[in-house]
Amino acid sequence: MKIYNSLTRSKEEFIPVKSGNIGIYVCGPTVYDEPHIGHARSAYIFDVIRRYLSGKHKVTFVRNVTDVDDKIIDKAKKESMAVEEVSKKYLDAYHRDMDLLGIARPDREPLATEYIPKMIKFIELLIERGCAYESAGDVYFDIRSAKGYGKLSNQDLDKMEIGTRPVRGDVSNGTRISPGENKRDPLDFALWKKAKESEPSWDSPWGAGRPGWHIECSAMSSDILGDEFDIHGGGVDLIFPHHENEIAQSEGAGKTFARYWMHNGLLTIDNEKMAKSLGNFISIKDFMLKHKDADYLKLLFLNTHYRHPVDYTEERIQEMKAQKERFVIMLDKIDRVKKKMDNKSQSPIGLLNEFRTRFEEAMDDDFNMPLALAHLFEMVNFTNKNIDDANVAVSSKIILLELSEIFGLNLVKKEAKDPQAAKIEALIKERDEARAKKDYKRSDEIREKLSGMGIIIEDTKEGTIWRTGF
Ligand SMILES: [Zn+2]
Repeated sequence: MKIYNSLTRSKEEFIPVKSGNIGIYVCGPTVYDEPHIGHARSAYIFDVIRRYLSGKHKVTFVRNVTDVDDKIIDKAKKESMAVEEVSKKYLDAYHRDMDLLGIARPDREPLATEYIPKMIKFIELLIERGCAYESAGDVYFDIRSAKGYGKLSNQDLDKMEIGTRPVRGDVSNGTRISPGENKRDPLDFALWKKAKESEPSWDSPWGAGRPGWHIECSAMSSDILGDEFDIHGGGVDLIFPHHENEIAQSEGAGKTFARYWMHNGLLTIDNEKMAKSLGNFISIKDFMLKHKDADYLKLLFLNTHYRHPVDYTEERIQEMKAQKERFVIMLDKIDRVKKKMDNKSQSPIGLLNEFRTRFEEAMDDDFNMPLALAHLFEMVNFTNKNIDDANVAVSSKIILLELSEIFGLNLVKKEAKDPQAAKIEALIKERDEARAKKDYKRSDEIREKLSGMGIIIEDTKEGTIWRTGF
């Protein structure tokens, strides 16, 4: 199979470092806010890649959590919370939302705060090897020591410096180069930051402080997956400076590091960048409250190549609902047709296996998910035309359920209702009646009661809806 490697900017034959055991490291969230549908895209793309590779190899999937960072500290100050409280709250939210989307938890999920001693060791090694220096309680990576610096983001170090004069907060080429008082070169980046008052800090050979962001991924990936591993992934926005700096650190420490760099494209909303300040921020929770089914979001992502940007619009989500219908209607038809047939022969026939082969060919070509999905729809068309053939009907169902599992789609209607459903619906009816009588005290009591049962309700134009979960 072939994978597009961002490092070489070409599709390469995938050759695992250790045959039969693939290591994947994906940069995870900085936990300071509600996860949004942009996070969902990156997490989902790598979930599909993991699921597909797991069918052929043993896979160890690692995704880190940045739980100490400027953004978390700022949030803690703003909300008068402890830093640990903020990171715990939003890590819980991240887990809750990923579970809700049916995105599998990683095999290993290291937290930055658990890795401080190993990061310190890593930094010591970099100083020893002449790639980093201490300066007034900070430690910086010496960019001039990294021979290949700029190779991932395809930038020339000297041009980069001229293009981005070290002005505080200057943003050039979309790249922020933050100058520090104690740096030798404005491009040098912090491995260790001297403690500031009222910020979390740890003891180190350079005094109290905390690690820079980039060092955690170098320290964690080699600790868990070894000095050379297969795939390193993340959003394209991480290529520079984060991934470039990871390479500088890991190679500086004498490690081979990742063989294949994979980057997913970003998500826009109605062709605009998603931002709270623009009022177009869609959290995963909001999406699920509104649309109830993670498959619509997954199908939206599947319809675009993972390396390309994807645009979210409500119209597109309606189209995705229709796409899902096509699968569900076909499966339903098969079930109804099957009941009328005798079960003479039920082994998948060659013709339908052809769809499986095409699906795999598409996935083997740098995970071409839109093409693989198109093959599934071709199979649906074929099946609908030949629905009276028992062989076709039976095999089509088997193959569709098997392959849609790689996409994490949930195509089988769940017949089993929530065991509490009748009770919940009765309470909601009672609450609606109380509200109609303007008895808000009673309606609030019922909301509280439902909340105690772990049920969240929301009043919409179509009436009150409920779900379990958060
Ligand atoms: Zn990272």
